[in-house]
Amino acid sequence: MEQVLLVTGASRGIGAATAKLAALYGYKICVNYRHDAAAAASVVDTICQQGGHAIALQADVAIEEDVTRLFNTLDTRLGRITALVNNAGILEQQMRLGNMDAARLQRIMSTNVIGPFLCAKAAVKRMSTRHGGQGGAIVNVSSAAARLGSPGEYIDYAASKGALDTMTLGLAREVAEEGIRVNAVRPGFIDTDMHTSGGEPNRIERVKHGVPMKRGGTPHEVAEAILWLLSDKASFTTGAFIDVAGGR
Ligand code: NAP
Repeated sequence: MEQVLLVTGASRGIGAATAKLAALYGYKICVNYRHDAAAAASVVDTICQQGGHAIALQADVAIEEDVTRLFNTLDTRLGRITALVNNAGILEQQMRLGNMDAARLQRIMSTNVIGPFLCAKAAVKRMSTRHGGQGGAIVNVSSAAARLGSPGEYIDYAASKGALDTMTLGLAREVAEEGIRVNAVRPGFIDTDMHTSGGEPNRIERVKHGVPMKRGGTPHEVAEAILWLLSDKASFTTGAFIDVAGGR
């Protein structure tokens, strides 16, 4: 069966690494992005130059109409989805809870929780044997923050990943008999541009001493875990979490 993978937030970082690695494994790829069309096009170019098949589609996963358009366009251009990586996620300026306003909390929860819920809903509708589909696999990109809470930096972000972990467990059990596996990876400190959004581009240099392996991880190291969970090698694995966090 042809494998069709949607990676949300794949214009850079962990999403881009996952899209590129999956293309090498033979998946047809949809590179979703929100703002940076040029970066998404560059990921598609790299995949196509390596002989793969990829398209870029703009959609804000936090907006229901965007998600509907994304999946409908994907149906037409790549065929029925068989794999989803809920990777798009944001964090904001480091601060204590006392300084967070409701607008910020809504932005974080919209992208990091509602977005993956909407995408999972659309994917399940297409994958589930209950709806005439042929099954599939979903991987949620959570965070070690869900276990650690991110005090003094972004408790809101950590809590959003906690919600994603709960969705992983619940959905895995809900669709287990319908040919769909749902799992998550929990990366630790990974070298991407995300830390700039928190106001500290060199954050990993500061925090790496607290990691047993004494370093940050690469997007590729996370992508390898995601690809294993998506693959048939993980055929009896659902509702599971892989920590890619250097022992932290
Ligand atoms: P990143 O470099 O900041 O990239 C984020 C990607 O998500 C970009 O492609 C961005 O697209 C896209 N995006 C953001 N909001 C979106 C939305 N509403 N709709 C669609 N796309 C959206 O982040 P990253 O470090 O690779 O993180 C990827 C995932 O790993 C996130 O879920 C993050 O929470 C998780 N994670 C990261 C780390 C880490 O240390 N880096 C650790 C643990 C977990 P545009 O640029 O086009 O807006």
